[in-house]
Amino acid sequence: MRTVIAGGGLVGLTTAASLRLIGHEVTVLEQAPDVRAAGAGIGLWPNALREFDRIGIGAAVRRMGREIDTWFFDAAGRPVRAPGSEASDHRFLLVPRPGLNNLLADAVGRDRVLLGSHVTGYTEKKSEAVVSFADGRELRTDLLIGADGVHSRVRAQLVPGSDAEVHAGHYAWRAMVPAGGERPEGTVLTVGRDRTRGGYARVSESQTMWMVNQFEAGPLTGGKRQRALRRARSLAEGGWHDDLLEMIAGTPEEAILENQIMFVPPLPRWASARVALIGDAAHGLSPHISAGGTLGIEDAGVLRAALAGEHDTAKALARYEAARTARFDAVREHAAAVEQASDAAEFAQRYAAFSHWMLTTAPDT
Ligand SMILES: Cc1cc2nc3c(=O)[nH]c(=O)nc-3n(C[C@H](O)[C@H](O)[C@H](O)COP(=O)(O)OP(=O)(O)OC[C@H]3O[C@@H](n4cnc5c(N)ncnc54)[C@H](O)[C@@H]3O)c2cc1C
Repeated sequence: MRTVIAGGGLVGLTTAASLRLIGHEVTVLEQAPDVRAAGAGIGLWPNALREFDRIGIGAAVRRMGREIDTWFFDAAGRPVRAPGSEASDHRFLLVPRPGLNNLLADAVGRDRVLLGSHVTGYTEKKSEAVVSFADGRELRTDLLIGADGVHSRVRAQLVPGSDAEVHAGHYAWRAMVPAGGERPEGTVLTVGRDRTRGGYARVSESQTMWMVNQFEAGPLTGGKRQRALRRARSLAEGGWHDDLLEMIAGTPEEAILENQIMFVPPLPRWASARVALIGDAAHGLSPHISAGGTLGIEDAGVLRAALAGEHDTAKALARYEAARTARFDAVREHAAAVEQASDAAEFAQRYAAFSHWMLTTAPDT
């Protein structure tokens, strides 16, 4: 089976590696000139690591990352955990994103990743799909997977009118900095005043990642560092989080990533007979659950299992769509609850409810 994957990000590369396991001849089309990953570190949960074990990179990913035991804090620095939650509800692996995507590209095979290939659309026929590139090239395939992120071109054609929506006033700032004077156990996430959330965690022996999220961020004035710093002060009552403020103040402007948070609206369909969406292209969500990537990797396992167990591609894609839309109905409810938590205690309780649910109901693929 010839399978083309539009988008060589975390989920597109994972999907390619997963589908190679069941004998697909995969080609990944990535618009960027190299394999790259926007962002600093990504928290991966055991349900994602299981798919990495299947494709043979689990041990390398674990070596690359650091296990994080999450504590939440309030703005005054009091640690908070949901009563009755389990240790496993708080434990994930924090992995540097660029290293992870490079490892995945090696697993797929670099010659199967066509860089500088911007997909503009496709034509779906009874016997095949034809993928079009911005430079006029075309590629014929039996199956097309849209893993091209929140602004997916494949989704625009499969589900017209499904443009990503701006989550007004909601921004995230992140950067990787040299590890140093901060507490080695990190602060992972502080739920502060004025709907600000943020903290830091060690990604490796030498690198620490900080992040600041803000709802109702107001007008963005000044440089990125000033914008992040101004909001991070809501996390640092009584000086308890001055190390975070110093870390942000010492970060070069160009090292700071600023994201306007976008949502993909709930979709009436994820697939047709030969085309399917995966990862953020299908379900770009609030970053407050810190699991969009993990759930995208889970998508890849479910797609692999559906295609392995059914010769009729259209039926396999329908099975994949049914399984994933049902799971994401619940994910969306959890994500909204976590995002709207009013204080650190409520956040901790809703977060543990989400992670526990995600882990205990993860599909066995
Ligand atoms: C602030 C923040 C923090 C987060 N933290 C976590 C976390 O801790 N844990 C977690 O699991 N998730 C987290 N997430 C979510 C996670 O980052 C995403 O769910 C994940 O990166 C999605 O991967 P993807 O491959 O689907 O999309 P992307 O990473 O967006 O990749 C899409 C790829 O497609 C390419 N592309 C786009 N259009 C085209 C085209 N037309 N032709 C060819 N190529 C194209 C792009 O260049 C890109 O390489 C976070 C998100 C944010 C914003």
